[in-house]
This record gives sequence, C-alpha cells and structure tokens, in this order.
Amino acid sequence: MSGELRPAARQGGCLCGAVRYVAAALPAHMHACHCSMCRRSNSALSLSVLVPFDALRVTGAEHLTTYASSDWAARSFCSRCGAGLWYRLTQPDAATADYYLSVGTLDDPNGLPLSREIHIDAKPDGYALAGTHSRLTGAEFEALLQANPEE
Ligand SMILES: [Zn+2]
Ligand SMILES: [Zn+2]
Repeated sequence: MSGELRPAARQGGCLCGAVRYVAAALPAHMHACHCSMCRRSNSALSLSVLVPFDALRVTGAEHLTTYASSDWAARSFCSRCGAGLWYRLTQPDAATADYYLSVGTLDDPNGLPLSREIHIDAKPDGYALAGTHSRLTGAEFEALLQANPEE
C-alpha cells in the first residue's frame, strides 16, 4: 500500500461489539478488492486500509476466529456475529503481519478516498465504483507485487 500514514487514532469493531480495536494510524486512502475470496467473504468487494501490526490494539480477541483462506493469507471474523474484521498475510511472518482492516468496521469510515481497485476483472458486472483511481486486473496486480513486494 503506497501513501503516508496519518497519525489519527480511529476506533472500530464488529457488529455485536465483542471485538473492538483502536488503530493508532491509518493510511490516507482505502483500496478495493474484487477477488473471488473477498466476494464470498463479504458478499461483494472488500474495502480495506493497511494498518501496521504495531499500530492496532485489539480487545475481545478471544471472540475472533481466524480462517486460512489461502496459502498466503488468513481472515479474522467475530465468532459471535460473523463480522469480518481484517485479513493478514501469513508469509513471511504471520505473528507480526500488518492488518488489511475492513473499512466498514470503523466507527467513522469517512475521509478515506478510494485509491485503487484490484482484481477488477473479477468484479460482478452489475455495479461499478465511480472515480478516476487505478483499476488493476488480477494479473496486473500480481505483476506489481513481483516488481515491488511492499506494494
Ligand atoms: Zn461480533
Ligand atoms: Zn480480495
């Protein structure tokens, strides 16, 4: 995820409130993913912001269930209400991986412009997001990751 972090604490949590978090810093933008895993997990796209591991404080973590959705990522949701909170890469180090935090779980999800859509080729054809941000196919995004693993 490119762009600077903004040191403004934001709170959020799951639908039932059993899991809560405070993010000490957020990037200035969110991004959207249309891949089939996000679609099945969220009913459609996922909207997320990348929060560094040490910038997120979680309470009620005992209510989390974490599902390994692929060989490289795991998704965590509240085992009481089912709300998805984030996904994290499990390579190279699952213990300290950053959080792709679901924007919809923020108490205040405003002020985070959409900067990129990925897996645009997997988007259902019944809707489209407005704006002039970049739109990458799955293959284009994979190529970007190969060129710049920090992306
Ligand atoms: Zn919950
Ligand atoms: Zn996805």
